Amino acid sequence: MLQPKREYTDLMHSERVLLGPGPSGVDPRVLRVMAAPLLGHLDPEFLRLMDETGELLRYVFQTENDLTLPMSGTGSAGMDTVLSNLLEPGDQVIVGVCGYFGQRMVDIARRCGAEVAVIEGEWGRIIEPEQVEDALEAMPHAKLVGLVHAETSTGVLQPLKEIAALAHSHDALLVADCVTSLGGAPLKLDEWGVDAAYSGTQKCLSCPPGLSPISFNERARAVLNSRKTKVPSWYLDLTMIERYWGKERFYHHTAPISMVYALREALRIVAEEGLEARWERHDLNARAFCAGLEGLGLKTMAQPQHLLPSLITVWIPSGVEDGAVRQFLLQEYDIEIGGGLGPVKGQIWRVGLMGTNSNRKNVTLALVALSSALREQGFQASVAEGLAAADAVYAS
Ligand SMILES: *Cc1c(COP(=O)(O)O)cnc(C)c1O
Repeated sequence: MLQPKREYTDLMHSERVLLGPGPSGVDPRVLRVMAAPLLGHLDPEFLRLMDETGELLRYVFQTENDLTLPMSGTGSAGMDTVLSNLLEPGDQVIVGVCGYFGQRMVDIARRCGAEVAVIEGEWGRIIEPEQVEDALEAMPHAKLVGLVHAETSTGVLQPLKEIAALAHSHDALLVADCVTSLGGAPLKLDEWGVDAAYSGTQKCLSCPPGLSPISFNERARAVLNSRKTKVPSWYLDLTMIERYWGKERFYHHTAPISMVYALREALRIVAEEGLEARWERHDLNARAFCAGLEGLGLKTMAQPQHLLPSLITVWIPSGVEDGAVRQFLLQEYDIEIGGGLGPVKGQIWRVGLMGTNSNRKNVTLALVALSSALREQGFQASVAEGLAAADAVYAS
């Protein structure tokens, strides 16, 4: 008999302020519903909660799409779901890459056996419609165009509407990664013509990681329904999952009950605030934070007119050590921020102001904490100028 290696203590950990690229802070209301007793996954009362979750998801995605549901798994499971349900071996696809998550889409599309044309964008900038048009002309039978709406690795918000129209004029679908935009930045699937989208719970919805909301319109559904081959993943096959989330209630896999409670509560909070008010709140706090960073003597990375309000990227000044600053923030202030990925590793910080965490208190706290971390590194950041600049945005 193997025995437990030691005695294990009760769960105890520091109370962090999660200002990184996700997970973000969770509303206490969401944590409370997660402690509710379980219902069975086919209990009529649970089925009603599923229906309400679907309705609320349609509201936050701004869509009437029937096929709108949360997949079991994190945001990447949504990415896998959307691409593996739409693609078959030999299909041609176009993916815009100007950050880490665009690259992940390419990887997944290739695993689906697709031939991928990559639009190489610059990190920190959007993919321009002209680049997509050129790619569509070079690959006229492309089945879909994949873009990241909110590129969490660079802090850029990609406009989608014009590109959706371009894709449609070439008979291609537009697929969008909305993991860091859903509930934090304007997103209107139906009005913009986004055909399939996926998101995650732990970013701007302020819910723990564990579910990945997806939505398919009729055009995307037609592609799914006319597949010649089965969806390669049994677990992610929407033709089966929609029979559980839809009217049939056909068992596929056991829904993660407590996570559905959590998502429903998080979406209820979004609906109470109102989507537009929530978008404005994220925008205001992001503008104040960026102004504050400049007041500290720092420079933001993303194209200013395409700034992602839920995640701000800032250049690390020369001579300042990335790891030391993040460790100082964690130890002295219990604040987590993110470092750079890929080509900007060690060069930028990523500060998330997502969901409930997007507020004036956190903006002020982050500016003060960052200025003290920078002073520790010999960089003279003026906290007074930083706070004055942020305050000026709130006052205007
Ligand atoms: C976080 C994120 C993902 C991946 O989500 P996981 O929940 O980590 O699987 C995908 N795309 C973007 C843009 C993200 O920010």
